[in-house]
Amino acid sequence: MVKKLSAITGPFQWENEEVTVHIPYSAAGVSTIIVVISKATERIMLLDVGDGATRDLLSKGERSFIEAIDLLAISHGHFDHMGGLHTLLGFLRMMKRSRPLHILLPKGCIEAITVITHFRKIYSETLPYSIEFHEMLDGAVFGTASFKVKAHQVEHFGMENIDEENEILMPAVGYTVRVGKTLLAYTGDTRSCKAVENLVCGSDLAIIEATRRETPRSKRRVHLSEDEARALGSQAKDFLLIHRIPIVRHERIKKRLRR
Ligand SMILES: [Zn+2]
Repeated sequence: MVKKLSAITGPFQWENEEVTVHIPYSAAGVSTIIVVISKATERIMLLDVGDGATRDLLSKGERSFIEAIDLLAISHGHFDHMGGLHTLLGFLRMMKRSRPLHILLPKGCIEAITVITHFRKIYSETLPYSIEFHEMLDGAVFGTASFKVKAHQVEHFGMENIDEENEILMPAVGYTVRVGKTLLAYTGDTRSCKAVENLVCGSDLAIIEATRRETPRSKRRVHLSEDEARALGSQAKDFLLIHRIPIVRHERIKKRLRR
């Protein structure tokens, strides 16, 4: 049985009576965007804004998201999690959004802070909405009328931080989001650690990165494997695996072509 690429990259959808979670696309090293919609208020929260986020938001042919987005929560500064930030800020400016936009990010997330501060500076005279960013330490909370968010520091390091002697983790958080009585958990990128177990445990839906097909033996672990992600998911009431490598196995494709 050949796995379709869309089974790996999405779109994925989950909902209950209070919330809709739409994941138009997620792939490691490309882009992740998670759209959370409160059914009671029709307000929107985005978890990560990878490349194509604006295109994906427009794919339903509606512009209501321009004002309906309450906040963005960025898990860390890797391009596949925030590559669409500049485009989204620019689109909201062009469309004359008027409400303040709140952006949550891990403390010291220089990539996202740089994009936001430069955007605000360049367009200071012509920006119709205000952009407030909030640096989130472990345990920090932020709430709007629709979304109650908590940051959970996870363990993720990038190629820019690899030191032969010392392991330097990058600023990276996962988030829990309460919408009414529903609790969502998003791991961001992380290796297996106590923090990510606590993050997903007991949630109604855990959205879990599952980048690696197998669990590597290396001590320098960057991501979760599918087995680890499924084990974590079993701690939640329901779960979705995302952030997978967007490649279908070559030998399987060849076999299919031969048929
Ligand atoms: Zn990453």
